[in-house]
Amino acid sequence: MTGRILVVEDDLLNRLFYHDVLEQEGFDLRQVSDGALVLDEVALFKPDLITMDMQLPNISGLRLIRQLQKDKATCHIPILAITAFAGPQEEKRIRSAGACGYLAKPVTVKQLLEAVSACIEPDGGTED
Ligand code: MN
Repeated sequence: MTGRILVVEDDLLNRLFYHDVLEQEGFDLRQVSDGALVLDEVALFKPDLITMDMQLPNISGLRLIRQLQKDKATCHIPILAITAFAGPQEEKRIRSAGACGYLAKPVTVKQLLEAVSACIEPDGGTED
C-alpha cells in the first residue's frame, strides 16, 4: 500500500510499533507525540490517513478529530482512532466525532493493517 500516514501517539513503544508495521507496508510515515502539534503537522505533511491515539498530552484525540472534521482543508482525511479506554460509550463518541475506524489497545499487527486498509479503501476493493 502507498500513501502518507501520520501516527499520533504519545507512548514511545506504541508509536514505534505502528510506525514499523506501517512503514513495512510501504507507507510514508511521520509521527507526533503531543496533541498540540497535530494540526501543524497535518497542514505540513498532508497525510492520507491519521492514526489517532485518544489519550494525548495537551489536546485530546477526540477534540483533534472534531477540529480536523470541521476544517474544510482536513475534513476529507480519514482518521483511525486508537484508545486504551474501550467501551460502547467511547466508541460512540469517537465515531460520531467522525473517525473512520476504531481500535482498542492493545492493537495487533493484523488489526492495525485491516483497519488502515478499510479506512483508506472503504469499498474494500481488493477482496474477491
Ligand atoms: Mn496516549
